[in-house]
Amino acid sequence: MSISRRTVVTGIAGGTVLTAAGGASAATADDAAQNILSAAGAWRQTAAERDMLYRQAFNIARDRVDAALRGGGRPGSAGRRPLAVVSDVDDTVLSSDTYWARLLTAGKQAFDDTLWDTWIRENGPTPTPGAVDFTHYAASRGVEVFYVSSRDQGPDTQELGVANLRHAGLAFADDAHVTMLRESSDKEPAQREIAARYEVVAYLGDNLNDFRRRYYVDSVPQRKALAAQDAEHFGRDFVLFPNNTDGHWMRAVFGESEPADTPAYRARMLRAARGELN
Ligand SMILES: [Mg+2]
Repeated sequence: MSISRRTVVTGIAGGTVLTAAGGASAATADDAAQNILSAAGAWRQTAAERDMLYRQAFNIARDRVDAALRGGGRPGSAGRRPLAVVSDVDDTVLSSDTYWARLLTAGKQAFDDTLWDTWIRENGPTPTPGAVDFTHYAASRGVEVFYVSSRDQGPDTQELGVANLRHAGLAFADDAHVTMLRESSDKEPAQREIAARYEVVAYLGDNLNDFRRRYYVDSVPQRKALAAQDAEHFGRDFVLFPNNTDGHWMRAVFGESEPADTPAYRARMLRAARGELN
């Protein structure tokens, strides 16, 4: 049974399938007015609080860099590995706000691969608030930033990723510092390679999977419990950024990270919002 099929069955079993959606996947005027992503998109676009969550996270990361420099002398000094920060890309240092605005404008109510790929190739991503300053600050202190991301735009995924980071003005936007994982979203092997050569002072990400693979589970309560076990890491070596539209929290809700727009998807989103999946 496929994941999407399971989602359909679950949605119907829950007895809350939205009749208003009518099963149509094409955009209609009603879709635009009733888009279930509207609140999430509005928060992304307008909330100063959201921008300051980014600033707050980069301030924490900068404090981590400063503390590591104070604690061990200059990076690369005798007996010590050089310092590094390992960062996710999308919605950590690159914002997807304009992608989601485009998606909502097109009347779509779920992640859309075609729109995403086009937007990536147009260098659509912009830097998140504080990302440019942070990466250049780290560079100025001799601390390298490595980017580990899971994207797939085909054979030129790596080239496009580096171009996006460079276009946004981030430091270390080069092949030596960018790893685009096409085959898996498991970042741990790439992170371990970096950690073998560098002392990693912080991991930056908008998805728990950016910190540890063990959070990659498809149960909402289990995922929350696993994160809670590691609560002492957050705001310290795990620096977390906000993302209310996509990521593995969606996988815990739907069984897949990028569910298609179906009546069952809309119904299950509503159940999640009502607290019925906790
Ligand atoms: Mg991300």
